[in-house]
Amino acid sequence: MNKPKVSLVIPVYNEEANLPELIKRCVAVGSGVPGGFEIVLVDDGSRDRSPALIQEATGRHPGQVIGVMLNRNYGQHAAVMAGLAESRGEIVVTLDADLQNPPEEIPKLLDAMKEGDCDVVGSIRQQRRDSWFRRLSSRIINKAVQKVTGVVMHDYGCMLRAYHRTIVDAMLQCHEHSTFIPVLANSFASKTAEVEVHHAGRSGDSSKYNLWKLINLQFDLLTSMTTFPLRLLSILGAAAGLLGFLFSLILLFMRVVYGSAWAAEGVFTIFAVLFIFIGAQLLAMGLLGEYIGRIYNDVRARPRYFVSAVLGRFPEREARISSAVGLRGQ
Ligand code: UDP
Ligand code: MG
Repeated sequence: MNKPKVSLVIPVYNEEANLPELIKRCVAVGSGVPGGFEIVLVDDGSRDRSPALIQEATGRHPGQVIGVMLNRNYGQHAAVMAGLAESRGEIVVTLDADLQNPPEEIPKLLDAMKEGDCDVVGSIRQQRRDSWFRRLSSRIINKAVQKVTGVVMHDYGCMLRAYHRTIVDAMLQCHEHSTFIPVLANSFASKTAEVEVHHAGRSGDSSKYNLWKLINLQFDLLTSMTTFPLRLLSILGAAAGLLGFLFSLILLFMRVVYGSAWAAEGVFTIFAVLFIFIGAQLLAMGLLGEYIGRIYNDVRARPRYFVSAVLGRFPEREARISSAVGLRGQ
């Protein structure tokens, strides 16, 4: 069977209320995509009728709907990874199953990708229909990610995104357990774009994320981007130690000038010494952190670079390769 041009990867967790409409609308959108499409539905251990609905859909749309069934709930990003591994399209679009990202916006992403020769196209939610708490937390995260990755994207939370096959392959080579896909993708992307998309209210039940899951996700996000918090320990330690040292110098000076009664008979001196020791301790912990950070980076075994094509070795094959990996600019 020929490879489709576009794969839609959709994580599904207890979405029986949304699945029938989702599949109908996605198939309708996909039929308009030149080069063919496939829909990869990943069941993330749902406990409702979602697996049955997915199975039924694969029978109804052979070759177009593919079901990937996970044995239990692994979380949205793990589910998307499983879908990416199964996808075969040259361009992969991820979206949520709850119809908050209208599938009708997908052609917009594909156009932006083609127009700008991009490898990642993100989306910005117009008039976001979520609770203020969800919106505020997203805002803080977006700002932090922008600062750390240096990639300016406005809306990291919106999963309606398009990735080129090169980026998908690079992500699949990352073996870490905690991933935040949009950030991971951007760490490999060379050219990105963003389009504005509509954001619908949730049609089924409420968000699948409770507070605890949300906190977990933020930590995944933070630790997947940077080991800077570990370094913060050293900085804090150095600052505390330095301040303690300055404090002791001031004490010494004041004591010489005003005599021992001024410094509460040595009580202040104890504080100064304490600060110096606390500083030294934090510094030592930060040093350990530096090693842990390096171990962490090695354990994740992310590819250090990603070759998109090798030229000149097999000239006769090159035409095929360049179309497969999307060699740009010629
Ligand atoms: N999801 C999943 N596993 C989970 C939680 C969520 O696969 O453990 C899926 C869910 O079915 C939906 C998407 O991830 O397709 C986003 O979930 P939700 O809409 O609840 O998140 P929010 O809109 O609050 O970001
Ligand atoms: Mg949602």
